[in-house]
Amino acid sequence: MAATSRGTTPVPPDARPRLTVLSGPSGVGKSTVVAHMRKEHPEVWLSVSATTRKPRPGEKHGVQYFFVTDEEFDKLVANGELLEWAEFAGNRYGTPRGAVLDRLGAGEPVLLEIDLQGARLVRESMPDARLVFLAPPSWEELVRRLTGRGTEAPEVIERRLDAAKIELAAESEFDTTLVNTAVEDVARELLALMDVV
Ligand code: 5GP
Repeated sequence: MAATSRGTTPVPPDARPRLTVLSGPSGVGKSTVVAHMRKEHPEVWLSVSATTRKPRPGEKHGVQYFFVTDEEFDKLVANGELLEWAEFAGNRYGTPRGAVLDRLGAGEPVLLEIDLQGARLVRESMPDARLVFLAPPSWEELVRRLTGRGTEAPEVIERRLDAAKIELAAESEFDTTLVNTAVEDVARELLALMDVV
C-alpha cells in the first residue's frame, strides 16, 4: 500500500514549508480559529507579535503578545528585528523576524495572524507565503461580534470598523478566502491548507 502519512512520505530536500499568513478584519474571529486549531495541533507554530497596545483583561506578556512601550517598539524597528510592522487603530504591531525564520528553517509549519498592511508587506518580502483571508459571514455579523466582545471603547470600535471596510475590500489580494461561519470548519480548512492534516 502506498505510504500517505507525513511520517512515511519522503520529503524532497528543497521542500521548505511555506509561511502562512491569516488576515481579516478585527473581530472576525482570527484568534478564536487559531486557538481552536492549536488545541488539536500544537505543532503549528504561531508567531507572537510585539505591540504597543495595552493588554486586555486576561492577556499575558509573551502569550498573546509581547506588550512593549513606544520606545521599545522604536528600537525593534531601528534594529531591523521585525519582519513587518504596521499601525492599526492607533497602536503598532510587529512580527519578530528571528523566531519566524528559525522555525521555518527547522521545517515547522508557521502561522502569522496579522492585519492587511502586514500581509502585504510579507507578500513583498516572502513572495511564496500563503495569504489566507478570514471573512465574516456578513457585515452585520462583524459589527455584532466586534461590539459584543465588550473589550473596546465605542471610539475604538468605530476605528476598527473603519479599518474593517478597507480590509474587506482587499479580499481579492489573498490566495484563499475562508468564511468564518463555524470555528471548527475554518480551523480544519486552515490546517488542510497548511498541509498539517
Ligand atoms: P488586536 O488589538 O485586536 O489584538 O489586533 C488588532 C489587529 O492587529 C488584528 O487585525 C491583528 O491581526 C493585527 N496584528 C496582530 N499582530 C500583528 C503584527 O505583528 N503585525 C501586523 N501587521 N498586524 C498584527
